[in-house]
Amino acid sequence: MEPKIIARPDHIISRRNISSAANKVLYGLKDAGYTAYLAGGGVRDLLLERNPKDFDVATNATPEEVKRVFRNCRLIGRRFRLAHVYFHNEVIEVATFRAPAPEEDEQTEGNTFQTENGVVLRDNVFGTPEQDALRRDFTVNALFYNIGDFSIIDYAGGLEDLNKKIIRVIGDPDTRFTEDPVRILRAIRFAASLGFTIEDNARQAALRQAERLEACSSSRLYEEIQKLLSCGKAERVFELSCELEIFEHLFPEIGAWRNDPDGEGKTHWLQKTFKQIDRWRNAGFDINPALLFALLFGEYHEWVAEQLMKSDGLSHAEALIEATHRHCRQLCDRIRIPKAVTAHIASIMAGQPRFLKTTSKNAARMLRHRDFLDAFLYFKFAARTTGRYAKELAWWEEQRKKKS
Ligand code: ATP
Ligand code: MG
Repeated sequence: MEPKIIARPDHIISRRNISSAANKVLYGLKDAGYTAYLAGGGVRDLLLERNPKDFDVATNATPEEVKRVFRNCRLIGRRFRLAHVYFHNEVIEVATFRAPAPEEDEQTEGNTFQTENGVVLRDNVFGTPEQDALRRDFTVNALFYNIGDFSIIDYAGGLEDLNKKIIRVIGDPDTRFTEDPVRILRAIRFAASLGFTIEDNARQAALRQAERLEACSSSRLYEEIQKLLSCGKAERVFELSCELEIFEHLFPEIGAWRNDPDGEGKTHWLQKTFKQIDRWRNAGFDINPALLFALLFGEYHEWVAEQLMKSDGLSHAEALIEATHRHCRQLCDRIRIPKAVTAHIASIMAGQPRFLKTTSKNAARMLRHRDFLDAFLYFKFAARTTGRYAKELAWWEEQRKKKS
């Protein structure tokens, strides 16, 4: 298929908006005789006049050839080898044009892993620019900026979708979501953060395929959930996740608990959580992942803890710690929350009963604790969201003022 090509005078991307590191990589490859494109989110964001998070480069040079062009370069990855080119404050990822993933039958699997010298890898994996564009997830993520003539190359109709503000899957959405269910979460993240709508076929397919998230790599899910929570539009993420029935599959226990007949009000906590996260994020406050998850699961953990106090006779703090650990253990197969993060969530939760003790001795001890701020932010959020402990909250605000 012939791509649509937009010449330099007819689009807004200028080399001035591309980082100097990315420009160096693009020109280095071009001067060595290779094709070099800026690809992925960088092109999308520049066309939307947003600040790209990073710049990725796609090229017809093999990883070994890229390494020959740049001294400050390291090859990473086994299956798909990528080149990282290092600059003092930036790393540019350079990927060779890639063909669609070969069928995962045993033969190709064997070949890919046996061959360390790249020959079979090359036959199996490297492709044309068109193939590289079409194996990407969404049309708006498949645009190239060609350093050779400063044009934009569009194989998938991404420019039109950018104008219409649509997240459209390249190819058949059911197939693409089956290949990689994390794409469903990426669709939600891009729709929320860019203010786009998810195209209807993609939406229907997401609903059909969402259960496949349960079988995804647990570390990828952890990473992606963090990105969803901290994209600055978490409130919209929450709405879309409800529409696409994502919670049920990512957090079945929370899904079940929310859908409980007396589950009213539970949506309220979650909605407020996402709003609060956005408020912090948009004020430039860097939120600890443990605080994110403590807030997200907080009302559920408090509920489990109450049951544990009744059934096992635990103290409130013990019950909160146990509730956190139990839930994170359950989650672990699906979402790999690192052990240190779980411990930090438990510490935030365990601190909560101590905010009810308004003595100066307790305050002195609490204020010195290294998790104090996260625990306090949780307490403040919970107090405001539920309308409880207004007096205690005012007292602690006072103590903090005195200390600073
Ligand atoms: P961000 O602003 O989050 O960096 P991005 O679009 O650059 O957004 P990346 O995760 O950095 O996203 O990936 C870079 C590009 O690689 C994407 O734009 C897309 O073209 C492609 N890509 C990434 N993940 C997938 C995936 N799961 N399936 C298909 N293509 C993908
Ligand atoms: Mg990116």
